[in-house]
Amino acid sequence: TEQLLLNSEKLTAVGQMAASVAHEIRNPLTTIQGFIQYLENDFNKKAHYDLIMSELKRINFIVGEFLILSKPHAVHFVKQDLQKIMDETVSLFQASANMNNILMERNYNENSILVQCDENQLKQVFMNVFKNSVEAMPYGGTIKILTDVTEEKEAIIQIEDNGIGMTPAQIKKLGLPFYTTKDTGTGLGYMVIFKIIEQHKGHLHIESAVNQGTTIEIRLPLAEK
Ligand code: ADP
Ligand code: MG
Repeated sequence: TEQLLLNSEKLTAVGQMAASVAHEIRNPLTTIQGFIQYLENDFNKKAHYDLIMSELKRINFIVGEFLILSKPHAVHFVKQDLQKIMDETVSLFQASANMNNILMERNYNENSILVQCDENQLKQVFMNVFKNSVEAMPYGGTIKILTDVTEEKEAIIQIEDNGIGMTPAQIKKLGLPFYTTKDTGTGLGYMVIFKIIEQHKGHLHIESAVNQGTTIEIRLPLAEK
């Protein structure tokens, strides 16, 4: 009976996931369908075109995040310098930061920090955290990035913002599929973040205070010398 229970639990989880994916994708599809119907006799072509494109992008984004979640074995672990990966991620993000009046501050450990990791996946984690920080600071602000090592052979990455913050109840819901407080959020960011950190045998800790800001701390095992 134990085995049976396990299987049916899995089925329920998969079924729930499938239902929520279907739901999330159907919403933008319905919007697109509606605007395509207008195209026949369209007086507002540009606005409708923009809406259709943004809904298509949304579907693409959701499907992309689900591909990440569904591919546990596609990771490629290599010994890498964490601060180099962070620098490259900050570069990728800089244009978006500038556009949103966000200052990116870095405070690195003076030595290189080597971790066994999948570079693209870690970049994805940092990007998702940055994106949330930007969205939490609608009038601009500062993202502070700190790196360090502990005596327990762990790398520490802290990413701090001075945005709207979260309540303890909100923090608890992070990582639940489609948990979002945003009109255009997908609520998949933290599922992806947790999954990748888990694959790297790391830990994630969140500290947040409403209207003060949020600090995300990620700990990853250091690579063997
Ligand atoms: P999404 O960004 O699509 O909403 P996430 O999983 O990335 O999904 O985040 C879930 C929710 O957690 C967000 O909607 C927001 O309410 C909250 N959140 C995440 N990061 C922050 C942050 N840095 N500051 C304030 N709230 C945050
Ligand atoms: Mg997000």
